[in-house]
Amino acid sequence: MSLITPHGGTLVNRILEGSAASALRDQAKSLAAITLSPREQFDLEMIAIGAFSPLTGFQGKADFESVCRNLRLADGTVWPIPVTLTPADEVAATINPGQKYALNDSVGRLLGVITVTEKYAHDKALEIPNVYRTEDPAHPGVAAVQKQGNFCIAGPIDVVQATYEPEFPDFRKTPAQTREMFAAKGWSTVSAFQTRNPIHRAHEYLTKCALEITDGLLIHPLVGETKSDDIPADVRMACYKVLIDNYYNKDRTLLTVMPLAMRYAGPREAILHALIRKNYGVTHFIVGRDHAGVGNYYGTYDAQKIFEQFDIAKEIGITPLNFEHSTWCKTCEGMVSAKTCPHGPETKVFLSGTKVRDLLKAGQRPPMEFSRPEVADILIKWAQAAK
Ligand SMILES: [Zn+2]
Repeated sequence: MSLITPHGGTLVNRILEGSAASALRDQAKSLAAITLSPREQFDLEMIAIGAFSPLTGFQGKADFESVCRNLRLADGTVWPIPVTLTPADEVAATINPGQKYALNDSVGRLLGVITVTEKYAHDKALEIPNVYRTEDPAHPGVAAVQKQGNFCIAGPIDVVQATYEPEFPDFRKTPAQTREMFAAKGWSTVSAFQTRNPIHRAHEYLTKCALEITDGLLIHPLVGETKSDDIPADVRMACYKVLIDNYYNKDRTLLTVMPLAMRYAGPREAILHALIRKNYGVTHFIVGRDHAGVGNYYGTYDAQKIFEQFDIAKEIGITPLNFEHSTWCKTCEGMVSAKTCPHGPETKVFLSGTKVRDLLKAGQRPPMEFSRPEVADILIKWAQAAK
């Protein structure tokens, strides 16, 4: 049995151990330091553990431009979103290509060292409209790029500690670890579900449809930086655990987390999320409606359509599983989509996001056709405490 090949062919590992790590720590004491933003810290971890394979560091100018224009690295490998290191301009001014710099977290602890190969002007006018399909500063991904520095620092990184206080350490498995877990379970095909929300009945249905066609299911929530009105990761994790405990076959289901910062780039981010899951050893990736979208910037199924511009088998390698919007149908007495049910909207159990939040704040469970009661109770506790 062989697991799926990582993106670009080799699973990257930029984490030094033992004497190599001690030597780098010693060397770093004499280096000038760059303090990473929260997103850059998550990106450093994603590079270090191989989740961003084939990247070995922060991207240079040729890759940056090619990614923005063509969704490919300069060598042609598919890559949809730039991964940049953009310190404050006064810091960037002191950085010279050819030298090494310590990379520190926000409180000054050493994460790793970058060997700078390049410093180049950050072409936000190229990045923003291409990656986000909008220049509206109200878009959280656009706003994040606008706030970044005006120079990008590129080069490979070597990491001594990917993070000092990992959230959910028991669930924070690296691609090498999930690959081992899949092999130990004898799964040759695995579906993954990306989520940054609690899982209600509709998404439970998608994950179980996917599991009907693969050996295993990886529920893989994003726990990196999200926008402030998203539900906090610890509340979501409690929801995932109670849902899996009560409603999933545990021999076939794994829950681990992914330390990626959200970009809210919709279609391009769907490609990124899929490629990352391939690195984790996943073969099938669930793409629902408005994947990684925000507001009304992207068409409902744009994130599914974007895969069609590639030779999926050759260039993407992981199989996207496209799903339509699903709901409970009272006439069918089950979860359905427009693809499977002939009945009209009047038979569907539909609740808007606002309606759900109002119910939770009032201490009321949404109907069981919308949300499992165990999940609803966790969200009620959170909504009432946050009031
Ligand atoms: Zn129906």
